[in-house]
Amino acid sequence: MIQDHNDNLDTPVLTDPFGRNINYLRLSVTDRCNLRCTYCMAEDMTFLPRQQILSLEEMTTIATAFTELGTTKIRLTGGEPLARQGIVTLVENLGQLPGLRELVMTTNGLLLPQYARALKDGGIRRLNISIDTLKADRYRSMTRVGELHQALAGIEAAQNAGFDNIKLNAVVLAGVNDDEVVQLARFAVDQGMDLSYIEEMPLGDIDSHKRVETQVFSERIRETLSEHFDLIASTETTGGPARYHRVEGTGSKIGFISPMSNNFCASCNRVRLTVEGKLLLCLGNDHAKDLKALVRRYPGEMERLKDGIREAIGRKPEMHHFDPDRVDIVRFMNATGG
Ligand code: SAM
Ligand code: SF4
Repeated sequence: MIQDHNDNLDTPVLTDPFGRNINYLRLSVTDRCNLRCTYCMAEDMTFLPRQQILSLEEMTTIATAFTELGTTKIRLTGGEPLARQGIVTLVENLGQLPGLRELVMTTNGLLLPQYARALKDGGIRRLNISIDTLKADRYRSMTRVGELHQALAGIEAAQNAGFDNIKLNAVVLAGVNDDEVVQLARFAVDQGMDLSYIEEMPLGDIDSHKRVETQVFSERIRETLSEHFDLIASTETTGGPARYHRVEGTGSKIGFISPMSNNFCASCNRVRLTVEGKLLLCLGNDHAKDLKALVRRYPGEMERLKDGIREAIGRKPEMHHFDPDRVDIVRFMNATGG
């Protein structure tokens, strides 16, 4: 069961060589998606064949090993997590893991009218919904195939399902949607939701734009917003990389996720499991461990799996070095698990 407090003092912790406590797993449940956002994917993508991806049972086994090693937060992501068959069963199974305090999801929201209630009942308390624009034609061009009204219907379904918190995520690109940062904030505030702006990262070789030309740093967005809202810096954290500001006079928070302009590696508490079963130790480096090979070669051998995880965490790099002008990391965000 999801616990409010991890009161078991015997719970082990995973600590990396730099003394960071690794208690947050981001689990990519599929590399597929019903959208093709220009900053995330190339237009023509090849997805992994079924036998190469983790089954839901394998994901549950690996997640169980992590929680037994002290992981208290799991985020389901992708690709589009709601596009994975059996996602509700996975949520229900993970929702039962002892020691897990938070089960959360990042989604583009399109399928929420169908799934929101079941996700909430399965144990998801907080949702992040990605929406980069409130203009229908722009939504279509940024996602290549998406319909804004479906994303808005998804947000509404999430609100009706009664999650503890809904946060919107927007990647801001110069010359594409940077003229909308105030409208996006206004929308979030009016709806009583939080909103985080994300700096674009150079993950994957995309064909739609040169990332160096579209880069917008968080500080510029914050300056623009402060002409319209009273932003009060807050030390509040949701256990992720966002730095928050409270919007005075409202219940909303504005977050900034700034991997390019403000390296947050010193407080990194997370690792990612790709849908292929590779444990990625850092978003901006290729250090990884093949956990799929371990679970397939030694089924049921939980201690061996946990040893593998411990060994990998012992190799977690200190920090990432992103350069928007170069694609050092060829894997796309959908394959990484955003
Ligand atoms: N499909 C879901 C969604 O869009 O919310 C979950 C996966 S998506 C990869 C997770 C987050 O990563 C989204 O908020 C998306 O906007 C963001 N993202 C994708 N590619 C990115 C990039 N190159 N740089 C920064 N953020 C990116
Ligand atoms: Fe799909 Fe999310 Fe990537 Fe957009 S950002 S293409 S919704 S995985």
